[in-house]
Amino acid sequence: MIRLNETHDPALRSWVPSANAAGTDFAIQNLPFSVFRRQGSSEDWRGGVAIGDQILDLAAVAAAGVIEGAAFDALQAASGAALNPLMALGPGAWSALRLALSRALREGSAAQAKLGTCLVPQSAAEHRVPARIGDYTDFYTSVYHATNIGRQFRPDNPLTPNFKWIPIGYHGRSSSIGVSGQQFLRPVGQAMPAGAAQPSFGPCKRLDYELELGVFVGPGNALGEPVAIAQAEDHVFGLCLLNDWSARDLQAWEYQPLGPFLAKNFATTISPWIVTLEALAPFRAPLQRPADDPQPLPYLESAGNREQGALDVQLEALLQTARASEQGAQPARLSLTSYRHAYWTVAQMVAHHTVAGCNLQSGDLLGTGTLSGPTLDQACALIELTVGGKQPLTLPNGESRAFLEDGDTVIFRGWCEKPGAARIGFGECRGTVLPARAIRGG
Ligand code: CA
Repeated sequence: MIRLNETHDPALRSWVPSANAAGTDFAIQNLPFSVFRRQGSSEDWRGGVAIGDQILDLAAVAAAGVIEGAAFDALQAASGAALNPLMALGPGAWSALRLALSRALREGSAAQAKLGTCLVPQSAAEHRVPARIGDYTDFYTSVYHATNIGRQFRPDNPLTPNFKWIPIGYHGRSSSIGVSGQQFLRPVGQAMPAGAAQPSFGPCKRLDYELELGVFVGPGNALGEPVAIAQAEDHVFGLCLLNDWSARDLQAWEYQPLGPFLAKNFATTISPWIVTLEALAPFRAPLQRPADDPQPLPYLESAGNREQGALDVQLEALLQTARASEQGAQPARLSLTSYRHAYWTVAQMVAHHTVAGCNLQSGDLLGTGTLSGPTLDQACALIELTVGGKQPLTLPNGESRAFLEDGDTVIFRGWCEKPGAARIGFGECRGTVLPARAIRGG
């Protein structure tokens, strides 16, 4: 577990004025990473750290000669077109770089003169997926989501008997992961309409989002050498927002016996910024589990995980329809919850993923699963909010939605705040549904 240190001091202020603004996601206590370049340019992609409304260009900082030692090695590893080399270095190097950047960006730092020219406004930048993601696994760690959705797919048996013993997951698809701003075609496929004798084929009629967090793997583990839960977080670089777009009608027809396939593999959208575990240290929380639930098996259990394995990250989903955009309306909030309600923690996900011998690699992505909280206004997918489409939502401009329509943009936000700590945030994860591709005959 990462202890609090000088980089978390809520009194720290930056010489970048926007980093000191109330309500900013990117205070000097955050320092999340992305890969960026100037919008519309053919510049090299390189690592950047958010500070206020600016990006600190890490390749430029490396050339400026103001950072030395282990922090410089980490800085160089973060200067390329993907963050995998930085992720591979591990917590010691990440922490050294965070401390050096925190000191360099503070009010009164001697580095200000040289680093002032290393800033790029976020409004002038574009991002890409920040790592080469070799493998993507999506978990299913919210007992509330599992129960809500299970009730619709299996009314007689909503929560499967394994849920409270195993962090359930499936191996997803990394090739279709895009960064915030992603636009994707409505998927097309097979569905089995109620009462029909054979499946229909056409554009998805029940397109949904899933509000999740993504977990980027730091140093990997060797094949056949599981990661013990006590060391699991040493293998985690940081967290991002993740939208696991889901075609519910395709899913209902295809998911048995081997789980989601085409219902999930057409697009996944992540936020550009990865917030490190060290930045999240002030927002640790005990793992809550009802007393009469089974206790985790020993490989999924540790004192550290029980006492502070959960993270209190506030999560919000919003919807902006095409018509609302034309009207200049603000996006409508669909739900608000916290990651602290998850049944299984990040450390348990890593320990379970590797326990049979699977090797994780730097840059791999783990999804937490839909992070629905205990009440309906904390549900993080339309299938829950609309009870399978039977109770459509009415939006502030009078439109209604059972599932997503073409032109809809779904926006996720995440942040952490509590007394005695500086507020930090994840920025946004936004994606837009485009009409389905025309279906050719034959
Ligand atoms: Ca999911």
